[in-house]
Amino acid sequence: MRVVIVGNGMAGARLATELSDQDVLVLGAEEHPAYNRILLSSVLAGKHRPGDIALVGSPKARTGVTVTAIDRVEKTVTTSDGSIETYDHLVLATGSRAIVPRGMEGALTFRTLDDCHNILAQAQNASTAIVLGGGLLGLEAARGLAGRGITVEVVHAVGHLMERQLDPGASRVLERTLGELGIKVHLNAMATSISDERNLHLDDGRVLTADLIVVACGVRPETELAVKAGLKVDRGIVVDERLRTSDRFISAIGDCAQLGNEVGGLVAPAWEQARVVAQQLTSDPLAVYQPQPPITRLKASGIDLAAMGTLQGDDEVLFADPARGTYARVLISGDRVTGAVMLGDNPAVGQVIQIFDRKLPLPLDRRTLLLGRGGGSASAVDSPALMPDAATVCQCNGVSKGALVKCFRDGDDVVTRTRATTGCGSCKDAVEGIIRWLEVAA
Ligand SMILES: Cc1cc2nc3c(=O)[nH]c(=O)nc-3n(C[C@H](O)[C@H](O)[C@H](O)COP(=O)(O)OP(=O)(O)OC[C@H]3O[C@@H](n4cnc5c(N)ncnc54)[C@H](O)[C@@H]3O)c2cc1C
Repeated sequence: MRVVIVGNGMAGARLATELSDQDVLVLGAEEHPAYNRILLSSVLAGKHRPGDIALVGSPKARTGVTVTAIDRVEKTVTTSDGSIETYDHLVLATGSRAIVPRGMEGALTFRTLDDCHNILAQAQNASTAIVLGGGLLGLEAARGLAGRGITVEVVHAVGHLMERQLDPGASRVLERTLGELGIKVHLNAMATSISDERNLHLDDGRVLTADLIVVACGVRPETELAVKAGLKVDRGIVVDERLRTSDRFISAIGDCAQLGNEVGGLVAPAWEQARVVAQQLTSDPLAVYQPQPPITRLKASGIDLAAMGTLQGDDEVLFADPARGTYARVLISGDRVTGAVMLGDNPAVGQVIQIFDRKLPLPLDRRTLLLGRGGGSASAVDSPALMPDAATVCQCNGVSKGALVKCFRDGDDVVTRTRATTGCGSCKDAVEGIIRWLEVAA
């Protein structure tokens, strides 16, 4: 069976490695070999060089090649270099593109490695920057630029930061922390246009000026090819639980796919979808994708933030110490955690993530949701023995402590086999802590 994958991003490249012993061809529009897109924030912050973020890609990937059309009757795709490729099964992994609001066309976007190079080139001679958008991506961009000594202003259209993940209380604490890091936040500020590449006009008449302006106003699934091919498309390319589009010979995975009302936007579901499609195409044609509630972490130096689930519950426990940049709110319904926001130094963050992720019952003493067990940390870094085997250590790759332990005991290289740490990298300390613990116990 010949599998053609459109898109050499996080989902497409992962699927290609899962199918490495099959007849597979990856066609990717970007010129670069596959890279870890979520580490672009670290490149911007100077923590990684572009060469450090390469992904294990497929030798059968053709880069700089855009698929321009799908012939569903002949089962072929046409590419921008004029070639025609046949497929038995086609997988669309076309990702999403940055939204550039009307009037903001002159601004820099932050989605691709080329975008990152453009921002860095302009940042070299910049002392001031504006980031339009106070969501996760905008704040990561702002922190990266501020870390380079640039004075940054964040302009956000609504009344609090990261409104999809945070409540107003957490946003206020975050704003204060950002202020201490040299980042000023303008809320309820609606940008209308850019002039002379450096002036940002707001609808209240104010004009903010900076050496560079970055737009981080969200993303939209890349569906153009699917629309042209007559596939069912809503906000994203509509798929069923087997990730099949309205054509059963075509699947869609990652940011471009829409299952029910949900479109992608995070790497953990994209990689899990790649795994499920690989399973279908090799061993289990009936394998289905089961969505998991997302856990979001801000990857910005000096800011620890984890947000999960919904901000609604019948009950809650709350701790706030704005002067120290700490805010923890855990939402509860019945005996389950339905959501949480943990900002700053929160000893219970690992425990709350585990309880939420594994849908465990609440501890008898709810204070431990804020203070950790016995008021101390129960993270994998300093006490892996306390962690249950089923606890997820690497959220991006869905790797449990038990899987790490098994791999270590089998004598395999833990990272190569499980891929733990190869996503956003925020589990690196936890994985190293578990390995150290295993080495001592061995
Ligand atoms: C700076 C940044 C930080 C992020 N941080 C996080 C994070 O911390 N955690 C998290 O979970 N997620 C994060 N994300 C989101 C994450 O990167 C995406 O969810 C993930 O990349 C989705 O993978 P994908 O393969 O669906 O799309 P992409 O990685 O965008 O790949 C799609 C690829 O398809 C190509 N393509 C599109 N159309 C065609 C065509 N017609 N022909 C050929 N090729 C085509 C595109 O050029 C692109 O290379 C971040 C994103 C950015 C930009």
